[in-house]
Amino acid sequence: MKTIGLIGGMSWESTVTYYQIINKTIKEQLGGFHSAKCILYSVDFHEIEALQTAGEWEKSGDIMVQAALSLERAGADFIVICTNTMHKVVGQMEKEIHIPVLHIAEATAEVLISNRINKAALLGTKYTMEQDFYKSRLTAKGIEVVIPDSQGIEFVNNTIYKELCLGILSESSRTKLLNLIDSIAAQGAQGVILGCTEIGLLIHQKDTKVPLFDTTLIHAQKAARNSIGI
Ligand code: GLU
Repeated sequence: MKTIGLIGGMSWESTVTYYQIINKTIKEQLGGFHSAKCILYSVDFHEIEALQTAGEWEKSGDIMVQAALSLERAGADFIVICTNTMHKVVGQMEKEIHIPVLHIAEATAEVLISNRINKAALLGTKYTMEQDFYKSRLTAKGIEVVIPDSQGIEFVNNTIYKELCLGILSESSRTKLLNLIDSIAAQGAQGVILGCTEIGLLIHQKDTKVPLFDTTLIHAQKAARNSIGI
């Protein structure tokens, strides 16, 4: 079994979910007392969020590089960054480390393709929705990506940073998010990517008929399968 190097804490609320899904998947696959070989480097999200807001991506990338190098030295075979947004600095990390990064958008694209989705809506932080670092990984695989209008972007971004990353699960935000999902699906999206690792804490597939693709679930399952070579 390969050892998974997790960079978590962004936020820790969703890192908990990663740990659960990874271990559950290993147990389902191998049975008995099997559990995941993994190492967690959990950052202080206060520092990361401040650098994001200041647009200091390279400095936030330096923190990610140091975390990845620590995991590498500790014996990790590959890196899992437990957030969508910080994949913005994957290029900077890959220049410094010697083990692969299991990219969350690549894992998501694989699942979309196997579900024959060629037009998907993307919900995540404003960085993930508006910038190209994430969407380009999907469009490169032939998946058309749609995002909410500017009001929708602000609402989703505020829900992430002012509620979900602080552990606040609000009924009114859940309802608004589900309405947004319905309206974006009505514009032709065949499915919705929950492209922020905390959104799955608030909404679940049972809440809507629109197919949801939860990146936390997809990424964590892929990490577990990767570690046991399936
Ligand atoms: N966990 C979130 C994501 O998947 C947002 C937190 C962050 O800025 O990393 O993008």
